[in-house]
Amino acid sequence: MKLGIVGAGMVGSTAAYAVALMGHVSEIVLVDQNAALARAQADDIAHAMPFAAATQVRSGGYADLAGASVIIIAAGVSQKPGETRLDLLGRNAAVFRAVLSETMTVAPQAILLVATNPVDVMTGITARLTGQPPARVIGSGTTLDSARFRDLLARALNVAPRSVHAYVLGEHGDSEVLAWSSARVGALTLDAAAAQTGRPLTLEIREKIDTGVRRAAYAIIEGKGATYHGIGAALARLVAAINGNERSVHSVSTMTTQIVGVHGVPLSLPRVLGRDGVEAELVPDLDTSEQAALADSARLLKQTLESVPL
Ligand code: ADP
Repeated sequence: MKLGIVGAGMVGSTAAYAVALMGHVSEIVLVDQNAALARAQADDIAHAMPFAAATQVRSGGYADLAGASVIIIAAGVSQKPGETRLDLLGRNAAVFRAVLSETMTVAPQAILLVATNPVDVMTGITARLTGQPPARVIGSGTTLDSARFRDLLARALNVAPRSVHAYVLGEHGDSEVLAWSSARVGALTLDAAAAQTGRPLTLEIREKIDTGVRRAAYAIIEGKGATYHGIGAALARLVAAINGNERSVHSVSTMTTQIVGVHGVPLSLPRVLGRDGVEAELVPDLDTSEQAALADSARLLKQTLESVPL
């Protein structure tokens, strides 16, 4: 399987590294408008392969993306001082217009995996610009937020994160919704698991977990300027799910026909991922306050998407 990555900056190159180390892809091609950067990243990652896997890693132009089954879009520009969020979105939409017209010409069959932030709106923009079905235009969304939620719950209850099933829904950002009421440990509700493990999930612990998930990116950016290892591994996991036709469940962002009364909005819900992209949507039961928070998140995203000039 061939994976293309457009945007060889921190996120794109870290995703390439994670996918390469996992070894389930035969070839990775990195494309960037900065060709020297793409070449340097590809060489650096290729030099790790003798210690890890047989993945071929190289850089190239758009023509080299031909035949890719999945293409990660991690290209983008960063916010200039004084620039509004909407101006930034407009500039990133222009980047995507250029990138996607090239990409769709050479690899119209590829599933597009969007990583550029704000990822939900960029996913919506990608769906609009390409006219591809929502199942094949997938944003990394709250995949990483959900992993952080599971990890913090797992630590609080002293179980493995893999045995915690919990999702963050809606926007990958401030309005995201931690779906507490549907979280399960094994087959138990959180309250039952807390009682049986003898580790009560007090309001204080719940608040710490909520803040830990919601503020994680801010804290990392404060410490090191950017986040990329977590999202790189999350993208690699999504590529593995698609490539392996796993039908595993991940909270990814796609254009959603209808959720909590909001129509046509890009946001994250737990979804089944396989070779054809999103194969099913698995919306968890939500309590009233979670439903209201998800509706707020959805309305905000819809409004932002509609305000981007395309
Ligand atoms: P991040 O931390 O999100 O990865 P970076 O700035 O490190 O951000 O990476 C973004 C990458 O996107 C840069 O390497 C930049 O050269 C690339 N890029 C920006 N615009 C385009 C474009 N029009 N075509 C291809 N690559 C682009």
